[in-house]
Amino acid sequence: MKADVLSMFPTELSELAVSLGQPSYRGKQIFEGLYKGADSFYAMTSLPERFRALLEENAIIKTAAVKRKLVSKIDGTVKYLYELYDGETVESVFMRYKHGNTMCISTQVGCRMGCAFCASTKAGLVRPLSASEMLLKIITAEKDLGEWVSNVVLMGMGEPLDNYDNVIRFLKLANLENGLNIGLRHISLSTCGLVEKMDKLADEGLPVTLSVSLHAPNDEKRRQIMPVANKYSVAELIAACKRYIAKTGRRISFEYSLISGVNDSPSDAAEVGKLLSGMLCHLNLIPVNPIKEKSFVRSEKNAIKLFTETAEKYKINVTVRRHLGADINASCGQLRAEDKNAIN
Ligand code: SAH
Repeated sequence: MKADVLSMFPTELSELAVSLGQPSYRGKQIFEGLYKGADSFYAMTSLPERFRALLEENAIIKTAAVKRKLVSKIDGTVKYLYELYDGETVESVFMRYKHGNTMCISTQVGCRMGCAFCASTKAGLVRPLSASEMLLKIITAEKDLGEWVSNVVLMGMGEPLDNYDNVIRFLKLANLENGLNIGLRHISLSTCGLVEKMDKLADEGLPVTLSVSLHAPNDEKRRQIMPVANKYSVAELIAACKRYIAKTGRRISFEYSLISGVNDSPSDAAEVGKLLSGMLCHLNLIPVNPIKEKSFVRSEKNAIKLFTETAEKYKINVTVRRHLGADINASCGQLRAEDKNAIN
């Protein structure tokens, strides 16, 4: 198998150079070439010609082709459908916020978590993404738009903690000063709550923001919409969150998709309030984006207001997420699903 250089740290690139009979400083030159936008080794003119030819034989610079690009007329949000080396497709969204350009990226092609309201998981998991494929979404968008990305949310397709090693590698690479130089504090990782992996993440010492998809106030309701709740109870999940906060000192952001008649009653809100009360956390309410395959309906404005006020009584910091890219189906897995349907 050819070495996937964009997934490698400078030290690993040095080892590759040495293994091909070159001095180790060539590793740094390859790394710099990659982030200057080289998409072939021949374009890395700081390297001797014979070495470039050797690299072409032994290594690969992965690329992502823009298969579709949709630009929101409302808020300038850009949604990309990228085609990867094997023809698989993944989506990413570029959003313009006051605090900087934010990119929402995927961590897997498909997903095996099976959440009932999510379009990404309908056909199951196809394959994990490599660190390079995650980086490429940012690199390709930056090139295409001529703008920098300063914030990243791992909230696209896939479950980041189900692709643990590649995601950790991605986080460390994205943070490198001579690479994308994205601050870890500006990266959010969202999980449906894989408890053991949350504990592992807490031990990594990476100051990323952890988002936890809660979506229900108790086991019974959570099991109806999130199969992962059959594996971990809400109590186990919350205990893991408390361990994470104790270990990292960082606030957790709980995500809660409001689905009319399913999880949006005032008593649901009170239960959530009790559950999170006293924790170093934030509750992010997301009116559900209805997907084609299911008949979930977004909560009414009044229900959202009442839910917010009820949860706030427990001294929880609550926000309702702004909805960007409404005209381009900017939520999770929808563009890829549409593209697949068009082909099949
Ligand atoms: N696997 C990760 C990342 C998924 S996407 C996780 O579960 O957290 C990021 C967020 O979008 C998750 O909270 C997910 O539950 C939510 N989401 C997925 N589909 C949605 C939809 N149709 N409407 C609203 N939120 C949705």
